[in-house]
Amino acid sequence: MLKDNTYSETLYDGYGQSFSVDELLFEHQTEHQHLVIFNNKAFGRMMALDGVIQTTERDEFIYHEMMTHVPILSHGNAKRVLIIGGGDGGILREVLRHKSIEHVTMVEIDNAVVEMCKKWLPNHSAGAFDEPRTNLVIADGVDFVNNPELAADGSFDVIISDCTDPIGPGEVLFSSDFYAGCKRLLTEGGIFVAQNGVCFMQLEEVETTVRRLSPYMSDTNFYNAAVPTYVGGVMTFAWGSDNHEARKLPLDVITQRFAASGIETRYYTPAIHQACFALPAYVEQAINKVNG
Ligand code: SAM
Repeated sequence: MLKDNTYSETLYDGYGQSFSVDELLFEHQTEHQHLVIFNNKAFGRMMALDGVIQTTERDEFIYHEMMTHVPILSHGNAKRVLIIGGGDGGILREVLRHKSIEHVTMVEIDNAVVEMCKKWLPNHSAGAFDEPRTNLVIADGVDFVNNPELAADGSFDVIISDCTDPIGPGEVLFSSDFYAGCKRLLTEGGIFVAQNGVCFMQLEEVETTVRRLSPYMSDTNFYNAAVPTYVGGVMTFAWGSDNHEARKLPLDVITQRFAASGIETRYYTPAIHQACFALPAYVEQAINKVNG
């Protein structure tokens, strides 16, 4: 991972990316994972967990805008949002830009990620952790969604799983148990989205998600966006809902809802929202293979 002022990703066997560590800001083996934050001349400050780049100052807006505005604007009347993971605060920041959102619970397993990202990547959360609408819970996401005592304050209109890859602590967030718990906490017509890897390199994760999520969400599918530091092609986002119309809104409805939000974005547009559900043929074929 970190050697001779270079950070090399270890996600894929025989393939990967590396970054010059122009300034090492923080490195620590937390209770849950190996956390590194460093400055790189091309992408600004970057955070990595267990050998995988999680987020960078330069391209975080793409991922955080697409993981939040697509489900929230598709829902159209979301008031309560649950974020699983998301320790850097980028998802929380973007969710809270919707003034219609009344409450956000964020369940992050590793408080060190929250604290160190607040210190070294302050523009990711941009004060979101101190917002009165924010309820930060330090816990394992799979425990939270399956433990009524933990998730005592009700259900959610949108659930966003901003987790690591299915290795280490993130593995349980790709399990049937987790999806069952998310279904239990979703309001009627609610929407679940999750980071689901780079489909060109992690197509088996798409297949696994279809197999495990579709028993709980009658409309299980995916959308995508290209995020430069999630190397290997487009990032795939899992989508689950029992509302079959939410994923197929006409452009004028998306445009009207986006305009009403008053939010300015750098990547998300209504046209990209409508188009992002178009998937490469090999991904559609993988989905259809599982669905039989
Ligand atoms: N954008 C990144 C990506 O697509 O890979 C994810 C970023 S975010 C930093 C991932 C977060 O998930 C981390 O803060 C990590 O601590 C958290 N996480 C991993 N496993 C978790 C679990 N079981 N419950 C809650 N949070 C978890």
